[in-house]
Amino acid sequence: MRIDADIIVLAGGLGERLRHVTGDTQKVMAPIAGRPFLRYLLDGLLAQGARRFVLAAGYRAEQLEAYFGDRYGGAEIVWSREETPLGTGGAIRQALERCETEDAIVVNGDTYFDVDLSALLRSHRETGAKLTLCLKKMTDFDRYGTVDMDEAGRIVGFREKKPVKEGLINGGVYAVGKSALPRLPEGRFSFEKEVLEPLAFPTYGMVSDGYFIDIGVPSDYFRAQTEIPLRFGQTVFPAAFLDRDGVINKEKRHLWKVEDFEFIEGAPQAMARLREQGYLIIVVTNQAGVAKGFYTEDDIAVLHDHIKELLRDVAYIDAFYYCPYHPRGQVEKYRVDSRDRKPGPGMIERAAADFKAKGITIDLARSILVGDTEKDIETGINAGIGRKILVRSGHPIPDEAKSRADAIFDSLADVMI
Ligand SMILES: [Mg+2]
Repeated sequence: MRIDADIIVLAGGLGERLRHVTGDTQKVMAPIAGRPFLRYLLDGLLAQGARRFVLAAGYRAEQLEAYFGDRYGGAEIVWSREETPLGTGGAIRQALERCETEDAIVVNGDTYFDVDLSALLRSHRETGAKLTLCLKKMTDFDRYGTVDMDEAGRIVGFREKKPVKEGLINGGVYAVGKSALPRLPEGRFSFEKEVLEPLAFPTYGMVSDGYFIDIGVPSDYFRAQTEIPLRFGQTVFPAAFLDRDGVINKEKRHLWKVEDFEFIEGAPQAMARLREQGYLIIVVTNQAGVAKGFYTEDDIAVLHDHIKELLRDVAYIDAFYYCPYHPRGQVEKYRVDSRDRKPGPGMIERAAADFKAKGITIDLARSILVGDTEKDIETGINAGIGRKILVRSGHPIPDEAKSRADAIFDSLADVMI
């Protein structure tokens, strides 16, 4: 199978929304489970028969060229480098000039949209359109503008972003004919504002229900860390099992109030880095305060939702496990000697079973556990976790020499993996 169209990948974006996470890394090079996102994107296109890529690069182009060179997976790579900022339109125009096929497919370098490219080309040629957009049906969203299409599949209008119950969005994958070139503006211009939205050409849409994720959005970027490798057949992941109090947030005895919650400096960023390296982030915390009657499971749920909200654009926690039981608790319901209570391995065992049910195997031997007490370290030993790490950011560590930890760091922010 071979796709009879060169593929233009727009890889020049600055990645402003992701900058606080990925720093100076070019957005398409942002790590997904330890590999650059662009590799997955190109792998997906190669699997569909792509044979020639035109990479439209701008910001940090040298980083991309150094990594990919002029061949990838048997396909030729041609570089279309912006010497001055060209905008999305200018970048497409310049890349189109380097295409050898009459039709080209344009793909946004920060979006994974699993579209049947042969079907796209077929549809594009049947309608005789100069431009065909792949559209994705979405529900309950406010992050994207919507696209209106008539019965014949012709695009009749674009609407601004606003909260929408159900609508079609522009998925960032287009088929475009080289014959459009003479009618494109010169120099710098926005493809969206100056070509798409004014419907400068007869433009058609093809709806695809393929997988869609936009890594330019931090929350999607963190979600992508497991979703994309899963799509490429990776089902085994290591996990970082993190104690909560004293590791993620400052240790305050029997913390339960949202207003008392305070991150330990650098902990959110450390969780983001672990996730980029392909670790699931799983919190395992003893909450005997429930058995002691200080607060309820509902209070814990509220606090954990608050933590997730604080982390929304910064990091990601895959799951929280807590143990409300204590063998000498005042609340009868919770006066239980539970296997979940650390140093018991119950919470880690439950996490492994829950992820298994979702098609993910947690590789315990490649996993890490980070805690601030010897009890945490024992938990890791009891559960068969490969690397147990003690941090000094919580309870005082009385006699470090006796710890059975594999490593000791000042805080989660210093943990090296
Ligand atoms: Mg602790």
